Amino acid sequence: MSSDADPLAGLHQASECSAILERMNEFLDHELDGTTAAEAIQAHLDACEQCLDDYDVVFALKQLVNRCCRAEKAPQQLRVTIMTSITRWRAG
Ligand SMILES: [Zn+2]
Repeated sequence: MSSDADPLAGLHQASECSAILERMNEFLDHELDGTTAAEAIQAHLDACEQCLDDYDVVFALKQLVNRCCRAEKAPQQLRVTIMTSITRWRAG
């Protein structure tokens, strides 16, 4: 077993990425500021291009929503819709 292609590595990464995605809104809302969760997400974004892309998308959408609604935070239903769209977009 000299291969460095660990079949579990991909799985592990995928589950880590979905965990990051789940907390992306909290991270963007600064609800995780100063916590180890925020540090973990930041470190993951630095290392994972796919999650960084998602971050850019969520960030852009939030800015759009904030501008349109003049609200600090997107309504819960919209947050769910955004996250569902991203999950579907990723899956496809
Ligand atoms: Zn990732």
